Amino acid sequence: MEDLNPFNITKKQFARAADHLQLDAGLREILEKPKRCLIVSIPTRMDDGSIRVFEGYRVQHSLARGPAKGGIRYHPDVTLDEVKALAAWMTWKCAVVNLPYGGAKGGVVCNPKLMSRGELERMTRRFASELSLVIGPDRDIPARDLYTDPQVLAWMMDTYSMQVGYSAPGVVTGKPLPIGGSEGRNEATGRGAHLAIREACKELKIPPGSRVAVQGFGNAGSVVAKLLAADGWNLIAVSDSKGGVYNSKGLALNRVLEHKQRTGSVVGYPEAEPIDNLRLLELECEVLVPAALENQITERNAGRIKARVVAEVANGPTTPAADDVLYKRGVFVIPDILCNAGGVTVSYFEWVQDLQAFFWDEDVINEHLGRIMLKAFREVLGIAKSRRIDLRQAAWILAVGRVSEAQQIRGLWP
Ligand code: NAD
Repeated sequence: MEDLNPFNITKKQFARAADHLQLDAGLREILEKPKRCLIVSIPTRMDDGSIRVFEGYRVQHSLARGPAKGGIRYHPDVTLDEVKALAAWMTWKCAVVNLPYGGAKGGVVCNPKLMSRGELERMTRRFASELSLVIGPDRDIPARDLYTDPQVLAWMMDTYSMQVGYSAPGVVTGKPLPIGGSEGRNEATGRGAHLAIREACKELKIPPGSRVAVQGFGNAGSVVAKLLAADGWNLIAVSDSKGGVYNSKGLALNRVLEHKQRTGSVVGYPEAEPIDNLRLLELECEVLVPAALENQITERNAGRIKARVVAEVANGPTTPAADDVLYKRGVFVIPDILCNAGGVTVSYFEWVQDLQAFFWDEDVINEHLGRIMLKAFREVLGIAKSRRIDLRQAAWILAVGRVSEAQQIRGLWP
């Protein structure tokens, strides 16, 4: 049986790159393990007066290239190993796009859909207060992830600021605009992925107007869908945690968005047939966008994926065994650490703007984002072609090469 533990998966992905780069054993061990893991209990007063104690995590994987950076996830299935994996992916992702950051991630085991805004705010503020041991604009800068939104980041920023006694907008990114957020941040992950998909399609000579299916119609997935639809792509299926909808002739994006806004899900959208999340992955289409959770494409279903391009907007949607199957079958996988790096890139711009107290227009942001994404895409594609390997291994080789170089130059203290 395939091992689906996300941290073991990152270790396998790392080992492949380390083998290519012939890293020595000591350096491998340093880079494979997280630098710090903080586990906190978060006592929270619920609306009925009772107290619930949630468990939260913050993992800093590496600080070799700069302060740690990574989102906070609220989900009932969050585990420490998942957060360790996500933190490691952040290290490699920041290195692929050459940002001066290390990697981190956080999570709280909770179901925000079953909590009131008041409960969510009290839990978030207590979590931020517990995290203040390790976070800070020069140390570790949280952001949003699955089921956290700009308001959650605003509460975190406010809590940290109250503790230090001054406004510290640079402590988190993904904030609302009025308190130091950046233009373009909400769309950044989708915009970066859209650029990567366009480059991949140019490489494979797939014309715009082809078919695309999106699993996970949230912040990132819906923006990719919107940008591709604007290019004339045929959006044939979308889904969320409740299920999906499919129409081979194409879905009207604005009406699906409106249906989701009104009912809370894409399910029940009338001009389509229902489809479940697993079957969506196996649809006939040119581009498949997994934009929800890890481990969606495994050795069980990799042989049935019919898309020519898999654009990994989610972190870790494809397992190493599935990667091998897809590569043999000629499926072009744009790996997560490249495909979804637009989000952290604009988070970096937000942090730079906060530190300088000087804010840029959206066209400047998008221009810088485009330049960074295209450069990274071309570098990764170049390595893949020259070494005759898939893009995942190429991206990891680029990233592990950069982080190990920084680690070696800094040396070992003491
Ligand atoms: P989000 O909370 O806005 O949206 C997540 C979507 O996935 C929701 O529509 C939800 O209903 C759906 N979903 C949840 N479980 C599902 C399942 N089992 N099957 C299908 N759909 C399911 O989150 P997001 O910010 O869009 O993040 C989505 C993914 O992209 C995550 O893996 C995240 O780590 C990754 N990512 C996001 C960003 C960002 O800036 N938003 C950056 C990099 C990576």
